[in-house]
Amino acid sequence: TRTPLMAGNWKMNLDYKQGLSLVEDLGDALKGGDTDAVEVAVIPPFVDIRTVQTAIDANKYPIAYGAQDLSEHIGTGAYTGEVSGEMLTALGCTYVLVGHSERRQYHGEDENITNAKVKAAIAVGLTPILCVGEGLDERKAGKQVEYTLAQLEGGLEGLSNEDAGRVVIAYEPVWAIGTGEVATPEDAQEVCGAIRDALGGLFDDEVKETVRVLYGGSVKSSNVGEIMAKDDVDGALVGGASLKADEFAKIALYQ
Ligand code: 13P
Repeated sequence: TRTPLMAGNWKMNLDYKQGLSLVEDLGDALKGGDTDAVEVAVIPPFVDIRTVQTAIDANKYPIAYGAQDLSEHIGTGAYTGEVSGEMLTALGCTYVLVGHSERRQYHGEDENITNAKVKAAIAVGLTPILCVGEGLDERKAGKQVEYTLAQLEGGLEGLSNEDAGRVVIAYEPVWAIGTGEVATPEDAQEVCGAIRDALGGLFDDEVKETVRVLYGGSVKSSNVGEIMAKDDVDGALVGGASLKADEFAKIALYQ
């Protein structure tokens, strides 16, 4: 009963004109597909969001959207370069990525900042997509579950059951991101299942049953089906392959 979420993270690609073309092509490519059975979302750079919003509203495309990051600061203030959660809700965003491995790696985001951003998102009614996942060293050492669950726990610290129930988790093993090396469906299930069990330990059973756990890392139309077939995988967070409308539509309508 969890509606799958198929989200395309554009990362630092596509200016607003290119973004407009992609969202229009995606809207066309989704026509005739069973878009009631899945939720499709695009996650453009900040400067493309207004354009994406206008196109989706005008054409009534069955596409949600969100941002790749938000400020941990709530309200307004002297925070040069930051974008607040309120600014994103004003643009009709549903989702916001938090703690993507590229934020952790290149921008020094630790558990504290990730936790603060999850809370900032929830405070304004955005759905945070909390990204977690181990690197190659942890994978080689067989510590993928332990490492990923520590990130999960840190990111969700202090949340009520009600708030935790609104979060989406994305399991993205860093070694599979942008490498073409996709996790096996069994690898994805192992960690996604462990995430669900851990949610049941940290929160109540309803949280465990309702929170969607996505897989991300080199997802393509050719591998999405076998990954989505796993019990505890409720969607995909797609990078490179989300930049092509036809390919991303195929991924999103994987059934
Ligand atoms: P790729 O699909 O390009 O491997 O990227 C995954 C990702 O990081 C999505 O957030």
